Amino acid sequence: MLFDAPDFDAHEGVHWFADRATGLRAIIAVHSTHLGPAAGGCRFWDYASDGAALTDALRLSRGMSYKNAMAGLPLGGGKAVILKREHKDDALLEAFGSAIESLSGKYVTAEDVGMTDHDMTVIARKTRHVSGLPVSAAAAGGNPGPSTAEGVFLGIRAAIRHKLSRDNFNGVHVAIQGLGSVGMALAERLHAAGAKLTVADIHPDRTARAARDLGADVADIRAILATTADVLSPCALGAVLDEASIAALNVPIVAGAANNQLATPADGARVQARGILYAPDYVINAGGIINVAAEYLGAGDAASVTAAIAKIEPRLADIFATADADGRSTDVVADAMARTLIGR
Ligand code: NAD
Repeated sequence: MLFDAPDFDAHEGVHWFADRATGLRAIIAVHSTHLGPAAGGCRFWDYASDGAALTDALRLSRGMSYKNAMAGLPLGGGKAVILKREHKDDALLEAFGSAIESLSGKYVTAEDVGMTDHDMTVIARKTRHVSGLPVSAAAAGGNPGPSTAEGVFLGIRAAIRHKLSRDNFNGVHVAIQGLGSVGMALAERLHAAGAKLTVADIHPDRTARAARDLGADVADIRAILATTADVLSPCALGAVLDEASIAALNVPIVAGAANNQLATPADGARVQARGILYAPDYVINAGGIINVAAEYLGAGDAASVTAAIAKIEPRLADIFATADADGRSTDVVADAMARTLIGR
């Protein structure tokens, strides 16, 4: 079953854990340790089947290899999934910590969907291969949202320079889907830089705040993806770019934080065919992982994290130029660069 799974990519290891006493059922997928320990968050999720959990672990761990490599980090790619049960208690998290410890540092965990920074402190009772712990504001680490927003801001700047020959944001119109941890911080930066904003969120208090404090126009959540603007910045959900939404886009650039924006690999080519510049999600949204990695590796203060995030801008410029020169879509160019970096 595993070797034939569509998302199996000669992963270095796929580890299944079950603990009778606590009810833990988890999969840790180690895609690559070529550049360092396989780092990637843990997802606590109600999967329809064990197969669905495996698919998620395989796909997400490969994505982390690409993301960490393109972020210039000395880290490989891995991901854990815990099959949800009613209670996520300390005993279950400690059992998961022991599972991580049994891999002797090959895999390093952090938060993902369904996990909190408090959960990381419980896991840390059993293993030191954990990051994303609560930290003081001055240190590197902690909530990655603002760091991700900083990288997305710089990535959008690379995109408007490449596509619109613009060196600044004055009057550049950005439509943002989702004003959460990343989207709101991004909106604040763009507003401060002179951009015009259109925003949408399912929480009316967030859009109201953006309208009041940032002069943003508010769009309906069903209309935001088709807003006529210079840039669409998806900062809410994955899989927003599919055949129908791509056909309805009214922007020359898509550049946002959301993971897995392309619903299928074919959608990268669809965006390209429409002449729209797409900033590959795992390259532009790497600010958070750069911040988390600095914490885990103990390799840096806030200034060095800022310097590492700044490299997202030239990295994207390189991807855009290569894609233009080769006639390939930007997602394909980024994947190829990442695979070269991880020796595949
Ligand atoms: P968040 O949960 O803080 O914010 C998401 C926001 O999107 C919320 O305000 C939510 O109300 C809104 N939203 C949900 N559905 C929506 C819809 N249909 N239309 C409009 N708005 C909708 O999440 P976040 O941490 O800001 O992350 C945003 C995206 O970026 C996610 O896809 C996440 O995986 C990705 N990402 C986040 C980070 C990070 O550092 N937080 C890093 C990399 C990638």
